[in-house]
Amino acid sequence: MAKKKFKAESKRLLDMMINSIYTHREIFLRELISNSSDAIDKIYYKALTDENLEFDKNNYFIKIDMDKENRILKVSDTGIGMTKEGLESNLGTIAKSGSLAFKKENNLKDGHDIIGQFGVGFYSAFMVSDSVTVISKALGEETAHKWESNGTAGYTIEECEKDSVGTEIILKIKESTEDDQFDDYLEEYKIKSIVKKYSDFVRYPIKMETSSTKLKEGTEDEYEDITEEQIVNSMVPIWRKNKNELTDEDYGNFYEEKRYGFDKPLKHLHVSVDGMIRYDAIMFIPGSIPFDFYSKEYEKGLELYSSGILIMEKCQDLLPDYFSFVKGMVDSEDLSLNISRELLQHDRQLKFIAKNIKTKIKNELASMLKHDREDYETFYNTFGRQLKYGIYDNYGADKDVIQDLIMFYSSKEKKLVILDEYIERMPEDQKFIYYATGESYDRIEKLPQTELVADKGFEILYFTEDIDEFAIRMLMNYKEKEFKSVSSNDLGLETEEEKKEIEAANEENKEMFDLMKDILGDKVKAVRISKRLKNHPVCIANEGEVSVEMEKILSQMPNGQEVKADKVLEINSSHEVYQSLKDAYENDKDKLGLYTKLLYNQALLIEGLSIGDPVEFTNDICQLMK
Ligand code: ADP
Repeated sequence: MAKKKFKAESKRLLDMMINSIYTHREIFLRELISNSSDAIDKIYYKALTDENLEFDKNNYFIKIDMDKENRILKVSDTGIGMTKEGLESNLGTIAKSGSLAFKKENNLKDGHDIIGQFGVGFYSAFMVSDSVTVISKALGEETAHKWESNGTAGYTIEECEKDSVGTEIILKIKESTEDDQFDDYLEEYKIKSIVKKYSDFVRYPIKMETSSTKLKEGTEDEYEDITEEQIVNSMVPIWRKNKNELTDEDYGNFYEEKRYGFDKPLKHLHVSVDGMIRYDAIMFIPGSIPFDFYSKEYEKGLELYSSGILIMEKCQDLLPDYFSFVKGMVDSEDLSLNISRELLQHDRQLKFIAKNIKTKIKNELASMLKHDREDYETFYNTFGRQLKYGIYDNYGADKDVIQDLIMFYSSKEKKLVILDEYIERMPEDQKFIYYATGESYDRIEKLPQTELVADKGFEILYFTEDIDEFAIRMLMNYKEKEFKSVSSNDLGLETEEEKKEIEAANEENKEMFDLMKDILGDKVKAVRISKRLKNHPVCIANEGEVSVEMEKILSQMPNGQEVKADKVLEINSSHEVYQSLKDAYENDKDKLGLYTKLLYNQALLIEGLSIGDPVEFTNDICQLMK
């Protein structure tokens, strides 16, 4: 029989598995049991909803057999089985797992990291086996098939005998070496403890033949070996258990077993609601960003169960987009088993649950913020962007839910703060919540526009993410305090007297400023004396709705509209260059032209904007030096 080759990617993953030095090899059993449990879920669900299938609860189980002498470990199930094509496509490729793409992106060198971070499913069997045989008969098929592989060389598929529907995974366990005790996986106690550790909550019985010695009946000193079938797992789904009986480790194992993520979850939420509508839910806030989180392949959603039976793997309607990082499941007896995807969307019960869940997550985050600041900051550094997106999304429909959860870096505290904290610290004479935008905290710190506000002793929030200003614009204000960019036209800082003074000075030099504006053309809306500068000679300020930062972001968008900020070149009238400008205006208009262009470009550079014509700029500098 011809051997088929694995797809290139699968082969590489297999190589990694086989050569891994991974210490948690034992997870292979969890992976196989989890596949079996999924396969039984599928047939169970079918049997419940399809009249043509006979339904008997006792038909659904997983069984583990061992043959120590021949080094065989077998995991069988009465699940839905696989057709020939199923074997081929499911076990011949691993395209789905995405783990290789991740490895490539992150340049991970050996299998060690990847196996730690990803469940690699079926393939993990090769960590402990010389060869793997899969015998499967799919529901509704006459013939069964046998898939066999000894690892990287490839695999074979042929027809074979199997009476009942389901799958058997037969592992030929490797010989032990000095470093690796593969023999462990042929020990009853060891296998039992692995099942207990990782798969205790699997809903179906995991059966095993166990042997013990017992005093022979009617004798006093004669012993006999007896074997009996035992159910190893407790079978009560974790979400039905009492929270008090569960440890962090239990939740962690559930997270792993369900492959919600391959990290350690930061927090878990166990909710049991017992009101008009009843449901149980276990949700997790992951500890790190799922590798595909920002790709379009990422699907949000929670697993949806109806009375313990999985009816949908990713129910999107249960989570708002801004909580799309939440993983987990919901089980409700009030949902119908037969409900279709379309109907579900309009289901009253589901809507109720979704709303309830939203509040629970919000409250959990709020409580973390209050009681566990460090964890909250870890969370915020990972998923904060998502929250800010939530404020802006849907025309601000949910901004009230999240506004007290968002954080920004504070010029005063030199760390992330929430808006409430900012407001608490505001002196009485401060009218606005000030913010400045830029590439990094360092850059913002040095922005000329921040000078006056900082000098007044007012706190400034630093916006470094492109979403920040858009989110804030959606909020407009927080607890009646308006947000104000340090670059905006009116900072509300000067007294009436000061205002008048500046106006007079602008008026006095109007002709010079008009000429400078003409030199710069439509690059700026106006040139004028600044109210905000103290030490720096110039800066770019902003009139109107679109800020310079927003212009930057919008212009980078794929079908970027030509949205321009109304820029104003502001000059510091107490700076020495101001006098030079005035002299040039009086005596040498060419020089004024040169100065104007240089100052404008300089302001752009400080702002982190690119200058239109760098060659001209450098020529201008040479001109100045001549
Ligand atoms: P994953 O479980 O993440 O999809 P696996 O490599 O573990 O990845 O399995 C690939 C696929 O093979 C599964 O999605 C399932 O369709 C099929 N499969 C694996 N084990 C079984 C089984 N015991 N019964 C039926 N199908 C199975």
